Amino acid sequence: MMRAILGGTFDPIHWGHLRPALAVSAHIEAQHLHLMPSAQPPHRSYPGATAEQRLAMAELAASELVNCSADGWELQQQRKSYTQLTLQQLHQRWPNDTLVFLLGEDAFAGLQSWFNWQQLLDHAHFVVMRRPHAQNKFSPALQQWLTQVQVDSVSALHQNTHGHVYLAETPAVNISATAIRQAIQANQPWQHWVPPSVADYIQTEELYR
Ligand code: ATP
Repeated sequence: MMRAILGGTFDPIHWGHLRPALAVSAHIEAQHLHLMPSAQPPHRSYPGATAEQRLAMAELAASELVNCSADGWELQQQRKSYTQLTLQQLHQRWPNDTLVFLLGEDAFAGLQSWFNWQQLLDHAHFVVMRRPHAQNKFSPALQQWLTQVQVDSVSALHQNTHGHVYLAETPAVNISATAIRQAIQANQPWQHWVPPSVADYIQTEELYR
C-alpha cells in the first residue's frame, strides 16, 4: 500500500497543511495520510506550543478526516528530527509499503541543507505541494538533481517504491502557522484557518497569546 507522510512543526496544524495534503494524497492514490509533528525542528527555533500540544492538535485534525492519523514517533526520539532517519525507520516498520513524503515548495527549495539529503530518496518518494508566495526559486544545483529524479506521472510513483520526486498541482492555500499565531496575538479572526476541533483546543489551552 502507499502511505503519504506529512511532517512539520504544526505549531499549529492548519488547512494550509491539510487541504493540499489531502488533495495530493487522493491524486496519487495513497491509502493513508500520516501527520508527523517534528521534535526540536532543526531548521527553526521557538515553537509556541509544547510537543504534546502539537501532537494533540495533529490528532484532533486527523480525527476529523478519513484515512488519516497522527504519529508521535519523531517526538518520542531523544534528538532532533531528521526526515532521512525518520523515513529509514518508517521503511523498517512497513517494508512492503511505498512511502511518499509530502512537503511544500518552500521546504523543498531548501532540501540540500537537510541532513543526509542525498539519501532522502532511498526509502521514499517526495511529492512537492504548491505554496502561495513561496518565492524560493529552486537553485541550479537542485534543478540539476531534479533532472535525475523527477517524474511527471503518478503511475511512476507506483512503479517504484522510492527514488522519485513529483511536483504536484495542489490547491494554493495561503495560510501559515506564523500568520495564525500573529492573528491570535492581534485579536484578529483565525479560527477558519484550522479544523474546528483544533480551534477549540487552541482556545481551551490559551495557546499563542
Ligand atoms: P510557520 O509559519 O511556523 O513557519 P508553516 O505554516 O510553514 O509554519 P510547518 O509546520 O513549518 O508550517 O510546515 C510543514 C510542512 O507543510 C512544510 O513542508 C511546509 O512547506 C508545508 N506547508 C505549510 N503550509 C503550507 C501551505 N499553506 N501550502 C502548502 N504547504 C504548506
